[in-house]
Amino acid sequence: MPHGVLILAELMDGKLVPITQELVGAAQRLSAGPVSAMLIGSGVEAAASGITGVETVYVVDDPALAEYTNDAFTSAAEAVARQADPAVILLGQTNIGRDLAPALAYKLGTAVAMDTIGLEMTDGKLHTTRPAYGGNARAVNSFTASPAVATVRPKSQDPALGGSAGAVTKVAVDVSGSRTKLVERKVATAEGVRLEDANVVVSGGRGVGGPEGFETIEQLAHLLGGAVGASRAVADLGWRPVAEQVGLTGKVVSPDLYIAVAISGASQHMAGCAGSKNIIAINKDADANIFKAARFGIVGDYKAVMPALIEAVKKVKAEG
Ligand SMILES: Cc1cc2nc3c(=O)[nH]c(=O)nc-3n(C[C@H](O)[C@H](O)[C@H](O)COP(=O)(O)OP(=O)(O)OC[C@H]3O[C@@H](n4cnc5c(N)ncnc54)[C@H](O)[C@@H]3O)c2cc1C
Repeated sequence: MPHGVLILAELMDGKLVPITQELVGAAQRLSAGPVSAMLIGSGVEAAASGITGVETVYVVDDPALAEYTNDAFTSAAEAVARQADPAVILLGQTNIGRDLAPALAYKLGTAVAMDTIGLEMTDGKLHTTRPAYGGNARAVNSFTASPAVATVRPKSQDPALGGSAGAVTKVAVDVSGSRTKLVERKVATAEGVRLEDANVVVSGGRGVGGPEGFETIEQLAHLLGGAVGASRAVADLGWRPVAEQVGLTGKVVSPDLYIAVAISGASQHMAGCAGSKNIIAINKDADANIFKAARFGIVGDYKAVMPALIEAVKKVKAEG
């Protein structure tokens, strides 16, 4: 009888990424039995002790798993899932999670719910909530298949804090038959905090008029220890890299503070930032859609507003 919740722990540069403890938190709140984690990669066993609040950490450690490939990781995750026999499997809605979850669900002959922001368990069945229609509606899906596989949007769940590390169980999997070879990896040069992890995001839209309009946006982001984001219009125009695009076809962010500068607030943009705890909008059009979602709004030309805002932040910081 499937029992408990299994989560995928993810590493970046050898360190556990925040989604791991968020998944543990979500798994604990489901109260569906013991929570366990799977850690897949090469030389990853040492990281197992960083996963807290779980009973068991299943480790698949193999040089062939040094780089993520769909077929090798799916084989590894499938082997762990068959051994652990959980009722629910949670992965992050990350580059790896969104690629791996559907393949894993297929191998296990079950279904998958992607990009969930809410999870609930009643009578042994998982119900997931996810944004639909560009964030304008919520879709609730109930599982009839088992195990229930779901990906969880980063920062949508409170992380599990504390608790002890799980006991390590090694799982041997033959992944030598993997047909995928990583030919080259190109690392995008990024300065400062990652957009997805930032507590503050300052985003610019087409209304800034050109790449130079991002000067004050960068300054404000830097002052607040945050990251720069952009609308798709900006990314399409080549003013900023696509990696900074926020929205339905870009990144989903849920910072404490999202400052939208000269962004109209199209539903496809809001799909990427509606989960922010506070939105401040700066727009010269008082009827712009972004003001409907904003907690604070400044109606005005960003060229006048941004320097004033930067000065105000500097002053507050100087006062300690
Ligand atoms: C399938 C699909 C997927 C999409 N995915 C995304 C996505 O992931 N992310 C995304 O962002 N969009 C996405 N879009 C595009 C989306 O519909 C909008 O076209 C886009 O978000 C508009 O970008 P914007 O707000 O920067 O530009 P605009 O809509 O042109 O808005 C510019 C704003 O700047 C204001 N402004 C102008 N000058 C100033 C000034 N000097 N000072 C202050 N304010 C000023 C204007 O009043 C206006 O509100 C998608 C569209 C489709 C069809």
